[in-house]
Amino acid sequence: MAKVAFLGLGVMGYPMARHLKAAGHEVTVYNRTLAKAERWVGEHGGRFAATPREAALGQEIVFCCVGNDDDLRQVTIGPDGAFAGLAKGAVFVDHTTASADVARELHAAALAIGAGFVDAPVSGGQAGAENGALTVMCGGEAGYFAAVEPVIRSYARACSLLGPVGSGQLAKMMNQICIAGVVQGLAEALHFGKRAGLDVEAVVEVISKGAAQSWQMENRYKTMNAGKFDFGFAVDWMRKDLGICLDEARTNGAKLPMTALVDQFYADVQAMGGKRWDTSSLIARLEK
Ligand code: NAP
Repeated sequence: MAKVAFLGLGVMGYPMARHLKAAGHEVTVYNRTLAKAERWVGEHGGRFAATPREAALGQEIVFCCVGNDDDLRQVTIGPDGAFAGLAKGAVFVDHTTASADVARELHAAALAIGAGFVDAPVSGGQAGAENGALTVMCGGEAGYFAAVEPVIRSYARACSLLGPVGSGQLAKMMNQICIAGVVQGLAEALHFGKRAGLDVEAVVEVISKGAAQSWQMENRYKTMNAGKFDFGFAVDWMRKDLGICLDEARTNGAKLPMTALVDQFYADVQAMGGKRWDTSSLIARLEK
């Protein structure tokens, strides 16, 4: 069993840390808003620390799942950041969806203190975190990956090393590019079906058995059809992720015309008041 810390008890981090504890690891948690850390310890045991530095002291692995690049810098190399407490040979595993650049920057900072860094963004959403069934895309050195992978398995159903540091974030970008196009396609199909006077549920029942099938279709068509979006993966997060994809594409020369367009559609949804709506709310701007 490992001695670990988890930084960031949000929608994702809270249940991920719970799975670590349930698997028998010795868990210390840190959360910026202290009340959440207190609640977590009240429910699951373990202990909480007042700063990321304190949380990292003496740990074999420090996990993290915060918001964006700047949040990540704050909890790692900021004042009282985790890297000030990280022991030589310890590994920092970052589950935040962030840029590949910040992963490389933090890898260099970890290297300078003799620690490892693995970027490990996740897919599977809140349900995946709650059920311990996340998909984890990793970038880093094979030795460090081998050390952390069995522990990550506490909340993952798939976990792969995809290349050097940054590769996990680049893989997550591919994931988000796929999702953007699929959700827009599904939104247009449902919108079209309604306008055509079809029984949309009956149509989806049959086409979901064929080539049009997707996770989004299986899990989102009913709520999209009902205009319900007050759950799931927030539009604000998706715009952050698509922004990361578009920045990376400007560097590597990839052409992402559809991703750029869907990003603008999400800007429309934000302007409609949908910042916290689920990403499936793309249909709302077609039907407004
Ligand atoms: P969330 O519920 O908003 O939680 C964010 C966590 O980060 C909170 O614990 C927050 O602390 C902490 N945090 C943010 N900025 C911080 C800072 N500057 N310093 C210290 N702590 C900070 O977000 P989430 O849904 O768990 O998502 C976390 C990450 O996972 C994001 O990168 C997101 O894109 C990614 N992700 C999310 C999903 C999903 O379905 N939600 C799916 C895949 C990937 P406070 O409690 O104090 O605010």
